[in-house]
Amino acid sequence: MLFSELGLKAEIQRAVAEQGYDTPTPIQQQAIPAVLAGHDLMATAQTGTGKTAGFTLPILHRLVSGPNSGPNDRLARVARTPRVLVLAPTRELAIQVEESVRTYGKHLPINSLAVFGGVGINPQIANLRRGVDILVATPGRLLDHVQQKTVDLSGIEIFVLDEADRMLDMGFIRDIRKVIALLPKQRQNLLFSATFSLEIRELAAGLLHQPVSVDVAPRNTAAETVTQKVIETNREQKKELLQHLFATRGLHQVLVFARTKHGADALARTLDKAGIKAAAIHGDKSQGARTRALGDFKDGKLTALVATDIAARGIDIDALPYVINYELPNVAEDYVHRIGRTGRAGMAGEAISLVCHDERGNLKDIEKLIKRSIERVVVPGFEPAAVAAPRPPQPPRPPRSGQPSGRAPGRKGTAQPGGPAQHRSGSRHR
Ligand code: AMP
Repeated sequence: MLFSELGLKAEIQRAVAEQGYDTPTPIQQQAIPAVLAGHDLMATAQTGTGKTAGFTLPILHRLVSGPNSGPNDRLARVARTPRVLVLAPTRELAIQVEESVRTYGKHLPINSLAVFGGVGINPQIANLRRGVDILVATPGRLLDHVQQKTVDLSGIEIFVLDEADRMLDMGFIRDIRKVIALLPKQRQNLLFSATFSLEIRELAAGLLHQPVSVDVAPRNTAAETVTQKVIETNREQKKELLQHLFATRGLHQVLVFARTKHGADALARTLDKAGIKAAAIHGDKSQGARTRALGDFKDGKLTALVATDIAARGIDIDALPYVINYELPNVAEDYVHRIGRTGRAGMAGEAISLVCHDERGNLKDIEKLIKRSIERVVVPGFEPAAVAAPRPPQPPRPPRSGQPSGRAPGRKGTAQPGGPAQHRSGSRHR
């Protein structure tokens, strides 16, 4: 199937073609006709599937084709109230969704705006006054605007909840309900979520009317195009091993995951000192610092971006070749989200996890969730220390001096993970 077969306005097709895309991704093939037909939508799709264009393209089409789109109508007026509201969990995602709206709507007379917390509210108020058709917002800041009466939601025709599961994880459910209560009853609703938990189903039941269901990536399975590897090692050797991987494999544009904000900062500093250009992004960083780090990473000025799980959500980078889990996440589903940052839209990618002894339980949980075992690799010089298996009580032995227990136990392989070059070929993105 081609984009030209979807019946989208010529201006939209032109913008899509300018991005270099001619074939819609599976979610786009399913979601675009459903949204164009005016249906509510429940889509189970991870980031990387092309979901943003999946809702942005038909929404743009509807805005310029509907009853309100003639030359003398509200589209032509100067100060107009939003007709589409997209709620996103993070500032980064809000910015990226709004960028997509701009990209795909650049040949249309459509105004869009992203509003999110952590920055001054006044410029947003000024922009809202100028008139906005598509408003992308994080819940807290949107409610600030509602309270200050600087936004009018009474004209919303289409409501999108993006990354709904993450919004619930972040505790936004009450804010979401408050926002929904402010919307006109008659509207189209689209809900996107990477997982389909009971909570999401409850939310969907109250929000959606006879929705079309679209499920592209079977739940909790990692993209087929991502090669996953586990390097078993010791906690104390992880920093050195990471540097070794950068040095020996010529890695570039690597998203490194750390569990804590403090850990992310420390790791970015260590890498930077070792000559590997790195920055950290997490919730304590100012919006300016995050945007700068992300920009530098996208532009290739940084080799590594060290992120926490929440900060990394919504990072949208074409053809990200590597994800390294410096530490495994506590929640197995976060692993799926993390590695979803690579292998996007059919591109090859590699996800490497550095796993020490006390993370084996986490690894087991992850393998159970993704229903497959991940290949183990041992890097010479960084072998995990033999850890004593439970054994019958033995008579006490005198302590041995010297040598740390650095010997590698018998492993099925000592090869380094596959070379990086083959994973970078065939980029469709420019
Ligand atoms: P998303 O899942 O919306 O975060 O999109 C993932 C990436 O896929 C983005 O970088 C898009 O620019 C890209 N993308 C979206 N649609 C297509 C398409 N039809 N073909 C190739 N890449 C696409």
